[in-house]
Amino acid sequence: MEELKINGIIYDGVSIKVFRLEEEHKVLVRFTDEITAYSKIKQASIKDKGFYCNGISSMISEKLQKEGVPTQYVRKVSDTEQICEELELIPIEFIVRNVIAGSMSKRLGIKEGTVPSQTIYDLCYKSDSLYDPLINDTQAIGLGLIKEDELVQIYEYLRKINGILNPMFESIGIRLVDYKLEFGKKTDGNIVLADDITPDTARFWDIASGQSLDKDRFRRDSGMVGQAYATVYERLKTIILKD
Ligand code: 5GP
Repeated sequence: MEELKINGIIYDGVSIKVFRLEEEHKVLVRFTDEITAYSKIKQASIKDKGFYCNGISSMISEKLQKEGVPTQYVRKVSDTEQICEELELIPIEFIVRNVIAGSMSKRLGIKEGTVPSQTIYDLCYKSDSLYDPLINDTQAIGLGLIKEDELVQIYEYLRKINGILNPMFESIGIRLVDYKLEFGKKTDGNIVLADDITPDTARFWDIASGQSLDKDRFRRDSGMVGQAYATVYERLKTIILKD
């Protein structure tokens, strides 16, 4: 394993830890086996979850970069760790919804599994104490969270990312239902994807069986959480290796 000089912790999350590296503008992202839901009310440890999330996230980041989407990802350095660019994070979560599920289904009383006539993009203000409330574009710009041209650029990236990931997951028998993305700014001001796409941050449904292959198995006590993450990892590996 590569020798890395860690210079303090930047983010001490439950599922993810981010360390500052001595190398300029680089961080080490470590995926743990811990899983939480409902603002940490539910917490557990899932064997090898860190390995699967690091693998899934690395494969997706490499695919997106290859297709011309700039991301924070630099390289995978161990089973559970990857090096990324250090960024100034934009305090907005972008939720991409190809199928209605989760909070949108509850909030609007729409049956889970309903397919909207076009992809839905939700913006949420990143605030743990406020539970990441839904905001709209004019609030995001008017409240100074993001500039209008930056938001236009992010929408372009969201459409491009979704256009790459949807067919990719479909080809391995997985419906990409919804997922959360964050973006950040590099020192030169350029916007890049600053997030990992894993079963912790996305909903994946097995097309053949309709079963969840993501964190909903933990949220909803369906069991076989580790096996679901392993399935996504193994299926992705089959196409990424071919690429
Ligand atoms: P929902 O709106 O149902 O809460 O979430 C929609 C999608 O975004 C789901 O795939 C969910 O995992 C992801 N998501 C939403 N908010 C967060 C968040 O704060 N953290 C993580 N890891 N994922 C989120």
